[in-house]
Amino acid sequence: MISFESVSKIYPDGTHAVEELSLEIATGRITVFVGPSGCGKTTSLRMINRMIEPTHGVLSIDGRDISTVDAPVLRRGIGYVIQNAGLFPHRTVLDNVATVPVLQGRSRREARLAAAELLDRVGLDRNLAKRYPAQLSGGQQQRVGVARALAADPPVMLMDEPFSAVDPVVRNQLQDELIRLQADLGKTIVFVTHDIDEAVKLGDRIAVFAVGGRLAQYAEPAEVLSR
Ligand code: ADP
Ligand code: ADP
Repeated sequence: MISFESVSKIYPDGTHAVEELSLEIATGRITVFVGPSGCGKTTSLRMINRMIEPTHGVLSIDGRDISTVDAPVLRRGIGYVIQNAGLFPHRTVLDNVATVPVLQGRSRREARLAAAELLDRVGLDRNLAKRYPAQLSGGQQQRVGVARALAADPPVMLMDEPFSAVDPVVRNQLQDELIRLQADLGKTIVFVTHDIDEAVKLGDRIAVFAVGGRLAQYAEPAEVLSR
């Protein structure tokens, strides 16, 4: 479980991005942070892997205050997927996925075999594995981004608007695949979006953020819809 206890973030310029956020994120489920632009979703997400440090409050994972864990150690257990996939441009698709396991000490051969399996799992055509990221469509790049994040087999995945830059048809496919992946792998996923329909489709639980970085509602999708 990931727990926010009265977490606030005030940026150095005085912006109150997140105000007194308290919430518990269940292990092995999809939790969605939704709300309009600028309401603190990304800031909240990035505090989970210590890309951003809270100004006040405590964040813990399975009861351990994450401020006591070295950020690189913490991030080994936390995959991160962003909007434009953020792939390494000078590495092939296969090597984008195989790089992290190699850095973690697996042999190149083993890592490439595992990478090929992951690319299958996220629905990427095998023939694309030798291409470079720029030679893929946006939706294909996102698939590689998800495979790369999964390569280290982290228990937690942070996803920041991962499907926002692709067309609606592909977005729908990616959402369906994420639901399937989640059912297969049981990851704890925290997913940021400004799209309430996407939130309701994907979320087991939905945190609705409001302007000023406050939590307006934290509920199951049916309850969020009925408001
Ligand atoms: P969201 O993800 O919901 O769009 P963000 O977490 O990105 O919101 O931003 C929350 C607020 O914090 C916004 O007002 C944004 O302008 C501000 N903000 C984000 N990053 C910084 C920063 N590095 N310095 C100052 N203000 C920031
Ligand atoms: P941008 O503002 O361009 O989105 P970010 O501030 O999001 O850049 O990220 C900084 C860099 O850290 C990114 O290139 C991101 O891909 C990289 N990164 C990759 N994995 C992680 C991780 N698990 N934790 C923190 N940073 C990561």
